Amino acid sequence: MKRQKVRQLLLLLSFLLFPVTLFYFSPYLIIQGGAAGIVTGSFIVFAALFGTSLVFGRAFCGWLCPGGGLQESCRLVADKKIKRKGIRWIKYFLWAPWIAGIIGAFAAAGGFHAVDFFYMTEHGISAGSLPGLATYFAIVALIATLALTIGRRGMCYSICWMSPFMVFGTLISDKLRLPTLHLQPVPANCTSCGRCTRQCPMSIEVTAMVNRNDMRNPECILCGGCADVCPSSAIHLTFGKKENPRRASKTA
Ligand code: SF4
Ligand code: SF4
Repeated sequence: MKRQKVRQLLLLLSFLLFPVTLFYFSPYLIIQGGAAGIVTGSFIVFAALFGTSLVFGRAFCGWLCPGGGLQESCRLVADKKIKRKGIRWIKYFLWAPWIAGIIGAFAAAGGFHAVDFFYMTEHGISAGSLPGLATYFAIVALIATLALTIGRRGMCYSICWMSPFMVFGTLISDKLRLPTLHLQPVPANCTSCGRCTRQCPMSIEVTAMVNRNDMRNPECILCGGCADVCPSSAIHLTFGKKENPRRASKTA
């Protein structure tokens, strides 16, 4: 469980830094900057999230996301499992027109003209002005409300505009069979105690995944919580090439 303490600490630190970093995750400023041909901090961060997900999947969500830190703190107040899994599609319906908007903004500006990582911040600090501070409190209220009403990591599940970058990155790395951070099940060790499913911050049916020898799930944020609570070492968070689950189950 030491690993989970480190993870919780990283998430908490990231959340405490959110007044500084908020604009570097902004889905709005990337379009505003794009309309002037400016590559903003959020453009660079989203590109980095996509690039790193080819190797680390959604580990950013599990270990470093400030919104994730806030939502996992909300578990202390209300710890509901997400029941309506269909809400995960909302983010993709929002993502597609948003990406079209970014492309359209840069096209209207005639392409890229400048790079300004600190675009619209006060000396690099997002909440350094009154509008920035108001935006910060509004976003924090939105994220907390979603986590407390929809359930664990309700924002990640429903509307997060960053997660599709990492979901698509993971799909590409799976296709290319790249070595990645991933979960490795050992179904023979599993006693179906259900601890992993109860622990999962993304409300995933982890026990079922272990028993079918296939841990692929686009909502998995590679937090390692399931591996750390399993009393039978039936799940490992590991790095390398993923075993082909179908081939593994044939030979099992
Ligand atoms: S915690 Fe381990 S033994 Fe229990 S259901 Fe999950 S994988 Fe199986
Ligand atoms: S399946 Fe395991 S690693 Fe993935 S989000 Fe759930 S607890 Fe974390």
